[in-house]
Amino acid sequence: MGNERRIVQVCLDVPLVATFDFRVPEGLDPEVGNLVVVPFGRTRKVGVVTGRIARSEIAPEKLRDIESVVADVAPLGRDELDLYRFCANYYLRPLGEVIAASLPPRLRQARRRKLAPAAPATARGPIAEGPPPTAEQEAALATVLASFDRFHPVLLEGITGSGKTEVYLRAIAEALARGRQALYLVPEIGLTPQLESRVRGRFPGEAVIAAHSHRSEGERAQAWLAAQSGTARIVLGTRLAVLSPFADLGLIIVDEEHDASYKQQEGLRYSARDVAVRRAQSLGIPVILGSATPSLESYTNARDKRYAHAKLAQRATGAALPVVRMIDTRVDKPVDGISRAMRDAVAARLERGEQSLIFVNRRGFAPVLYCRDCAWHSTCKRCSANLVLHLNSGEMRCHHCGFLGRVPPRCPKCGGMDLAPVGQGTQRVEESLQALFPKARIARVDRDSTARKGALKEVLDRVHASEVDILVGTQMLAKGHDYPGLTLVVALDSDSALFSADFRASERLFAQLVQVGGRAGRAALAGEVLIQTDFPTHPLYAAVARNDFAAFAEETLTERRAAGFPPYAHLALLRAESKKAGEAEEFLESAARLAKRFASRVEIFDPVPARMARKAGFERAQLLVRAKSRAALQPFLREWKSALDAKAERRVRWTLDVDPQEL
Ligand code: ADP
Ligand code: ZN
Ligand code: ZN
Repeated sequence: MGNERRIVQVCLDVPLVATFDFRVPEGLDPEVGNLVVVPFGRTRKVGVVTGRIARSEIAPEKLRDIESVVADVAPLGRDELDLYRFCANYYLRPLGEVIAASLPPRLRQARRRKLAPAAPATARGPIAEGPPPTAEQEAALATVLASFDRFHPVLLEGITGSGKTEVYLRAIAEALARGRQALYLVPEIGLTPQLESRVRGRFPGEAVIAAHSHRSEGERAQAWLAAQSGTARIVLGTRLAVLSPFADLGLIIVDEEHDASYKQQEGLRYSARDVAVRRAQSLGIPVILGSATPSLESYTNARDKRYAHAKLAQRATGAALPVVRMIDTRVDKPVDGISRAMRDAVAARLERGEQSLIFVNRRGFAPVLYCRDCAWHSTCKRCSANLVLHLNSGEMRCHHCGFLGRVPPRCPKCGGMDLAPVGQGTQRVEESLQALFPKARIARVDRDSTARKGALKEVLDRVHASEVDILVGTQMLAKGHDYPGLTLVVALDSDSALFSADFRASERLFAQLVQVGGRAGRAALAGEVLIQTDFPTHPLYAAVARNDFAAFAEETLTERRAAGFPPYAHLALLRAESKKAGEAEEFLESAARLAKRFASRVEIFDPVPARMARKAGFERAQLLVRAKSRAALQPFLREWKSALDAKAERRVRWTLDVDPQEL
C-alpha cells in the first residue's frame, strides 16, 4: 500500500471523549486490543487500540503517530473489550476509565521496566480430597452441574456453616477438569488468609492467584498476566477481579453475593455481582451466587425461575444453629452498654473456657461527647456528623472527613466541666468489659486496631490459639472467619438500623445479624446469640431468631412492591456537591427540569439533601430517578447524561449512580 498511512483508534483514560485517532508509523503493526504508548499533549499515555480505520475525521496535519506498541502484554481479547464496553455504557462512564480500572497500575505506566513473561500453563495438578459431600451439598452440586456449558445462574442459598465453600470448590474442580479457568469473588473482608490457604490446599498443583489491594504493584501485574495467559487457572479476588482478563473463563462464583462491598462507591460505580452475571451470560458459562441472606434482587430472580435455586438448610458439620435471644433493654438497662443478661452470659463463657464475641457498630470510645450543662455536643465543622471520642489517643475524630482534634478539657460553649461521652464505641466496651472481668484476655478488632499490616491476622491467630477470651469488634468480624471455640455472640447496638431512611438498611441489618450470629457454635459447641434491643418483638429480630430468611424476604418484598422500590423498579441517583450552599440543589433543580423534557417512561423525584448533607466542607444533595425496567431507564440516562455533560457545569461536582446501593 505504498505510503498510505494506517490509522488506529486508541482509547485513553481522559474525561468525556472515548477514543482518539493516531497514525501508525512504518514498522509498527498494532492489533485491536494492543496496549500502545501515545503522545498526549506534552505527556505520553498508555491506551488500548479499539479499532482500525482507513480515514480519520481529524485533519491530517493534526494526527500524531503512536509511539510504540507495548510488546510484553498480549492484546486484550474481544470478550474483555465487550465487557468493558458494556460497563462503560451501562454505568455511563468513559470506556478509557473502565479499561484503566481493569489494568494494574504498572501496566498503565508509559515508562517502566519490562515484565517477565507469564510462565507457561502447567499440566493440571492433583486435587486434594475434600470431605464427602452431604446429601444437600450433593443436590446443590447437581443443580450447578446440570448445565455447565451455557449461561446458568444458580443462587446457592445456604445458612452459615452449611458448606457453600465446599460446593464452590467442587464446581471449580469441574471447570478445571474441562480445562477452563474459574473466578472466585469474595467481599472485601471475606478474603482471609484462611480462605486462600483452603483453596490452595484443595488445588495444590494450581497457580492460584489472590487479587486484593494488599499486593505490591509488581505482584498485581504478574497476577493479571497469569490470568490473561491462562497460567493461573483459579483467580480468587475481591470486586475488581471481575474485570480481570482470562484466557478461557469457565465458571464464576460470587460468595456473599448480597454484600455491599461488591458495589464500588466512587468513579466507576459498578456492581461486581451484576457485572459477573452479565459476563457469565455473554461467555455462556455458569455463575454461582452464594449467600445465607441473598440480596432481594437475586432472591426474586430465583423465585421467578430466572436463576436456578439450590438450598443448604443444614450445617455441614451437623452442628446446631445458635439459639437467638433478645435482651429487652427497657427492662434490663445496660450500664456502660452492658446489660445484666449479657454480663452473666459472658461470665458463664469465661468460667467454661469458651470464647465470646461482642459486636459493636462503632469504633472509637463513644460516638459523641456531650455537655450536661448546656447540651453542646461534639460535631464536625465540615460534615453533618458528630466527632467521635477516641480516648486512647486523646482525640476527637470525624470518621467521614478525617478531621482530628484534641479532646476539649471543658465545654467549648459554656466552659462547664461536665462533659460526658454518650453511647458505646468498641474502645469503651472493651474497657467496661475489662473492668468487669479483670482477668479476661480481651482483644479489639476494628479499623483502628488493625491499621498496621498483619495486625488483623495476629489477632485472629491468637483467637485460634485460644489466647483470647473476649473479642470486641465491628463488622470486620462478621465474615469469613471461623472461630471454633466461640459460643456466644452479642450484638450491642443494632436498633438504629431498624428505622433508617435508607430502604435497604433493614436488609443489611438482617444479613449482618445472621452473619455475625453464624460465627457462634461452628464446631462441637452449641452457640448462643444475644441481641440487646429496645424493640424485642420487632418482626426483623423475630425472623433472625427463627432463622427465617424467607419470611423476612417475603415481608420486605411486599413493602418494596407497595413503595415501588427495587427489585420492582430500577433506580439511578444523580449526586451533586458544591462548596457554596444552595448550588448543588440549584444544579439538581435544573437537571430535573432538563430530565422532564425527555423522560417519558421514568419518574423524576425532587432534589433532596443527601443523608449526610455536608461532608468535608461540601454541601451534598441528590436526585432520584425511577423506572419500571432497565430498558426504560437506560436510554433516558444516556440522553440525560449527555445533556448534563453539555452544560459543562463548573461549580458543582456531580455523578450519576446507576443501581445505587445506598440512598
Ligand atoms: P459456608 O461456606 O456455607 O459457611 P463452609 O464450606 O465453610 O460453609 O463449611 C463449614 C464447615 O463445615 C467447615 O469447617 C467445613 O470444613 C465443614 N464442612 C463442609 N462440608 C462438609 C462435609 N461435607 N462434611 C464435613 N464437614 C464439612
Ligand atoms: Zn456546655
Ligand atoms: Zn468531618
